[in-house]
Amino acid sequence: MTTLAAAWRSRVAARPDGVALSHRGRRWSAAELDADAAALAAELAERGVGAGDRVALHLQNVPAFPLALLALWRLGAVGVLANPMYRDRELRHLLADSGAVGVLTSTADIDELRHAAEGTSVAWWLGVADDDPTLADVIAAHAGAVPEHAVAPADLAILTYTSGTTGPPKGAMNTHGNVLATVERFGDWIGLSDEDVVYAAAPLFHITGAVASGALALVGGGTLALSGRFDPADAVRTIEAEGATFTIASITAFHAIEQLDWAERRHLTSLRAVYTGGAPVPQASIDRFRERFGVALHNVYGMTESTSAVIAVPLGDAAPVDPLSGAAAIGRALPGVGIEVVTDEDDPTAPGEPGELVLTGAQVVPGYWGNPEATGRTMPAGRLHTGDVVVVDVHGWIYLVDRLKDQINVSGYKVWPREVEDVLYEHPAVHEAAVIGRPDDYRGEAVVAHVVLAAGRTTTPEELIAHTRTRLAAYKAPREVHLVADLPKTATGKIRRDDLRG
Ligand code: ATP
Ligand code: MG
Repeated sequence: MTTLAAAWRSRVAARPDGVALSHRGRRWSAAELDADAAALAAELAERGVGAGDRVALHLQNVPAFPLALLALWRLGAVGVLANPMYRDRELRHLLADSGAVGVLTSTADIDELRHAAEGTSVAWWLGVADDDPTLADVIAAHAGAVPEHAVAPADLAILTYTSGTTGPPKGAMNTHGNVLATVERFGDWIGLSDEDVVYAAAPLFHITGAVASGALALVGGGTLALSGRFDPADAVRTIEAEGATFTIASITAFHAIEQLDWAERRHLTSLRAVYTGGAPVPQASIDRFRERFGVALHNVYGMTESTSAVIAVPLGDAAPVDPLSGAAAIGRALPGVGIEVVTDEDDPTAPGEPGELVLTGAQVVPGYWGNPEATGRTMPAGRLHTGDVVVVDVHGWIYLVDRLKDQINVSGYKVWPREVEDVLYEHPAVHEAAVIGRPDDYRGEAVVAHVVLAAGRTTTPEELIAHTRTRLAAYKAPREVHLVADLPKTATGKIRRDDLRG
């Protein structure tokens, strides 16, 4: 199997009656979903969509999303994943950059969006109404199916924009071969079978939702359970009602579930594999979640450019904790993933020494869309420079130190925000924490923490500083702690340290 279209085809042929998709109590067998996708493909073909064309999916986690992906792959076309919260500037950047020919949107008022497409190649809009998230009207209008276009593994399947944590989002060209490699490797890692129900807690418009939930369930086998835009109460109810066995989401989503006072163990008992990543995962959060819900969160590391998961904690294992830094490992490389650790000069580091993580293999994208310069800089000769600093121990466990760019320099000492944040999260009053460096005449930079308190808890900046000083070298302890109501986040729930730096 070398393309997503072929993998889907063989699933439909092998198990046509198996449930492939569920949404708020409605279910689609693989054969039904395939027929609907063929009808949508006919509609898109009528609108002029052909092989290689990009179509923006400006949608929440609704049935139209997987339907559109299957329809586009059938035509050899490409889904451009667009955050449905994007309006003017952000949407225009994405439509112009991708050269999308059309947009599927769940925004009720399409007219409000049209100006975002001025000067771009967008020729049409297709609305996905709240009361018709399955596009039943469109599908009913098409009886005949369009012939399937033969795609190759190197053809683009989705164009996925990076989270924009460190700059403007870049379009990562995830090919059919890339996505299938992740589906196969991560599917094996979690022991995915036809019996699995994958609850898409992460947004399908982000790489992990699209690949490690959407494509994983559709072409890997199993049911994809959707419940619209993420809402913690909705997530817990859907997991229980659908008997979800697997889910993957940012730690922010699990923190939000923890804030529900009514949620209990019994609601989450169907889950057999739960992963979290995309941003640093505090060990304290994993411990708290296990104590309260009896559910073990497993760390997973991935990037848009590595087509999601490449490093993960094996299911059922607890990640070892580095005795020196106190950090838990992010996991081990998935089979087939190439790992190197390099110095600033791109030379291999000595074993056990920190350095930049470089990834190679079938999951690494061939480049950034329309940006050969950034491609050459970030992934020369297929070697993806992640911008993340890691340590690999003799047993193959990988520890993430932090993002290279976020390092703080205090009087010549290196401070990694993640380490300080981990210690802050150990304090029971801390709900969320973000640590940054602020320019300081005397020290070069000073460590500053921004903290959101847990509901019903109180503490003072002084107490939090004292808490860190008993656990960390004095130069790592924050000079200032600001108690704030919330922290700036990317659309995928990542805390934006760069926004706090101002
Ligand atoms: P941009 O590249 O646009 O600045 P981004 O890097 O946040 O944004 P993504 O591709 O969504 O965009 O995220 C990949 C990054 O997320 C990784 O480089 C890493 O810094 C971080 N990350 C992913 N998984 C983990 C994890 N398990 N623990 C800590 N950090 C993680
Ligand atoms: Mg990045």
